[in-house]
Amino acid sequence: MIYGRVALIGLGLIASSMAHAMRRDGTAGEITGTARSAETRDAVRQIGFCDLVTDTAAEAVADADLVVLAVPVGAMEAVAREIGPHLKPGATVTDVGSVKRAVVEAVKPHLAENVHFIPGHPLAGTEHSGPYSGFPELFENRWCILLPDADTDADALDRLTRLWKSMGANVDTMEVDHHDLVLAVTSHCPHLIAYTMVGVADDLRRVTDSEVIKYSAAGFRDFTRIAASDPTMWRDVFLNNKDATLEILGRFTEELFALQRAIRTGDGDHLFDYFERTRAIRRGIIEAGQDTDAPDFGRGTKR
Ligand code: NAP
Repeated sequence: MIYGRVALIGLGLIASSMAHAMRRDGTAGEITGTARSAETRDAVRQIGFCDLVTDTAAEAVADADLVVLAVPVGAMEAVAREIGPHLKPGATVTDVGSVKRAVVEAVKPHLAENVHFIPGHPLAGTEHSGPYSGFPELFENRWCILLPDADTDADALDRLTRLWKSMGANVDTMEVDHHDLVLAVTSHCPHLIAYTMVGVADDLRRVTDSEVIKYSAAGFRDFTRIAASDPTMWRDVFLNNKDATLEILGRFTEELFALQRAIRTGDGDHLFDYFERTRAIRRGIIEAGQDTDAPDFGRGTKR
């Protein structure tokens, strides 16, 4: 056992996956939890991955050794304000939000000095959400980034690191603003591009009837999967990682214009060199074990 009592605030994909993994491994003595709606709380009572589901976050965190904030980024401040006065001295508070600077600013002011706050971000997810979508293998061989600062208690960090490792994650630490820039490149902007491409195709469908669906086997199908991700979560990501995503989108637009010009002027060398460079990046991802070369991207074996 790593923690006696773990409280999960928010009971969706990430929290339910954590609960399933902790139960499988016996790393938490007891798991409490709460969600915003009575519907989700009742669902979790039925599914049974929490020992106790409370109606409020304040009740859920009572006597907890670890509190995990697993709500959309825009809801973090209200939750932190509610739980702040009810935290046990010495408890660790972490979160799983996809953006870090905004979460640190929203949460930290509401926590007492005697509570350890260690922001976190598991780089794992699916396009599904809610309490039924979780599964214990979600974090296996995925990165979990923890964001300690100079004052972070070494024992608290070590314990949280052990928990993520027990769930199969590879743990790394990073500085908060650097995290937001890296994730803008690797996750946030790609999602925005997928949303845009699917939106464009939807406009086109009015002209070409069902062809967009019928012939979507190639790249477009992957875009539709990404573009099916939770609207609340992704709205909050862009509202809260504004500077980094705008910076990366600016660069993206410049490169897109350069490719557009190469197509118009028939500059095949430019296109070829560019595609060769990007292909090498893909090879690097496979070599790093972060994806598979299988034709279905290995999805047949994942949920
Ligand atoms: P999810 O499946 O949509 O679950 C979100 C949970 O938060 C639900 O239980 C929801 O309650 C609760 N909630 C929503 N608004 C709330 C509010 N204002 N106050 C209290 N509770 C509220 O989301 P998720 O995918 O687990 O994501 C949770 C966090 O993990 C987000 O910050 C997200 O950025 C981050 N994250 C997500 C992924 C991913 O791919 N999904 C990956 C890494 C990190 P109800 O069900 O009652 O509405």
